[in-house]
Amino acid sequence: SLRPGSVSDERLMVAVRIRPLKHDENQRTLFALDKKHVIISEEAADKGDTLRFKRGNDKKYSFDVVFDENSTQEEVYDVTTKPLVKNILNGYNATVFAYGPTGTGKTHTMVGNPNEPGIMLRALNDLFNAVKGNEDQYTVTMSYLEIYNEQIRDLLNPSSGYLDLREDSRGKNIQVAGLSEISTTSTNEVMSLLQKGNKARTVEPTAMNKTSSRSHALLSVTVKHTTPIDNEKDHLKMCMKQGRLFMIDLAGSERANKTKNRGKRLQEGAHINRSLLALGNCINALSGGARYVNFRDSKLTRLLKEALGGNCRTVMIAHVSPALSQREETKNTLVYADRANHI
Ligand code: ADP
Ligand code: MG
Repeated sequence: SLRPGSVSDERLMVAVRIRPLKHDENQRTLFALDKKHVIISEEAADKGDTLRFKRGNDKKYSFDVVFDENSTQEEVYDVTTKPLVKNILNGYNATVFAYGPTGTGKTHTMVGNPNEPGIMLRALNDLFNAVKGNEDQYTVTMSYLEIYNEQIRDLLNPSSGYLDLREDSRGKNIQVAGLSEISTTSTNEVMSLLQKGNKARTVEPTAMNKTSSRSHALLSVTVKHTTPIDNEKDHLKMCMKQGRLFMIDLAGSERANKTKNRGKRLQEGAHINRSLLALGNCINALSGGARYVNFRDSKLTRLLKEALGGNCRTVMIAHVSPALSQREETKNTLVYADRANHI
């Protein structure tokens, strides 16, 4: 299996996770060839076919990591996010995104359930363990928010209504006014906060999927490290380092036209696609070493400005279904992830 950290030395990691076929899905279109390649087939294949070599019209894509349908929550965490924990403790920022159409396993990967906890819980657990015994030097706080229709809501305090994004005159220090910051080191409390928060997410029925999630959910964990440093004289000075880990369960990436939305829903689709497009553009610009990156196109990218630039690490986990019925969305997702990967 993959060695944790083995592929994480670059600024951007693009991973693909394939979810298992459902019981009523009998034909597949996507195959994990090995730990780095997938093949999307133009012909239908039986459920039992698990690997195929490239044929005439098949298309092969390569990524930093491919997690096939047998991958475990632990493996996905260990390879993508665990290596970031020490960066956070050292005062750097990092972001992990779950991207993909509704129903492909984004929330499973990020949140999971008490038996199969996802990335958010595992990362917090590792951070809590790392600071254990040094609580006088470290403070760990978290916030959990939703961006829906370009509006921000506090998922830890949903009754507080829409919150404003504030930035200073130079466009630095972006903050969400009034957002709860909770300080805890209890893993059980975090699991229940995340599950409660997820129930508060805006869920709208669409023609495609009754539990379609049209919102982005953003968990931010901040670690402050304060250490006394000796001055030449006898005064003590304090040195403060702050690292931040963003873990983001993005809204479904499916196209608005395919879900046959009308009116209000179509507008939601437009907002979602706008922010996913803005995000893709920022990531492309950053990984291509562009000198100017436009973060202003969506609330999502404005919020993440400080976490995506500079020496920060970014991990994109694109989620796909292997089912034939999802081929168009799977193709779109691979193209989006591939675009982020290859520049
Ligand atoms: P999304 O958040 O992308 O809409 P979910 O995470 O809600 O998708 O997943 C849809 C369903 O599929 C859920 O019931 C989830 O438990 C299940 N599922 C998704 N990925 C996996 C996986 N890798 N292994 C087992 N079940 C999964
Ligand atoms: Mg979800």
